[in-house]
Amino acid sequence: MDDGKLHIVLLGPPGSGKGTQAQRLAEELSLPAISTGDMLRAAVAAKSALGEQVHGVMTSGQLVSDELMAAVVKERLAMDDCDAGFLLDGYPRTIAQTETLAQILESIDTELDHVLYLTVPDEELVRRALLRQREDDKEEVVAERLRVYREETEPLVDHYRRAGLLRTVDGNRSMDEVTAAMMEAIR
Ligand code: AMP
Repeated sequence: MDDGKLHIVLLGPPGSGKGTQAQRLAEELSLPAISTGDMLRAAVAAKSALGEQVHGVMTSGQLVSDELMAAVVKERLAMDDCDAGFLLDGYPRTIAQTETLAQILESIDTELDHVLYLTVPDEELVRRALLRQREDDKEEVVAERLRVYREETEPLVDHYRRAGLLRTVDGNRSMDEVTAAMMEAIR
């Protein structure tokens, strides 16, 4: 939608480099990079009620419920720094979440502009995930997160392709090359 705002979703498997690229694009575009994973990890670290609620689910590699995520995302996207748009990293992750996001955007008379889909081969994903070695990145959890991604999140690729929003970017390159390709894809 040509309303001078830019609403972008980054889509891709765990380990595809979404987080890093979201930060870089945010810098280039002067938009906030909103990572639902970072928000939830911060809630866990702060031992907030939300954190207590999601900790177990996160460490098992499962997804937090759509209802809970809807509340988290609605509150975040209503903040002032989202006035000119945003980059979403890690949301939506289910078809139900795509509907929630569409509703949020509709309620502020706008819509999604681009879905940047980062592709990376499986072996590379596993290698990268193990290198990160976070609490939720143990080998079994890495495999589980990838399985959940295939089942719940991969259908979003077709969903957004049909909507004409999907821009596929080869993520198996240097960080700089990937950032440049993403910038090119949204021009
Ligand atoms: P991430 O850093 O994006 O991989 O997120 C880490 C974990 O947070 C995920 O494995 C999920 O347990 C949870 N999470 C983050 N975003 C979402 C979401 N949109 N829907 C459900 N769970 C999420």
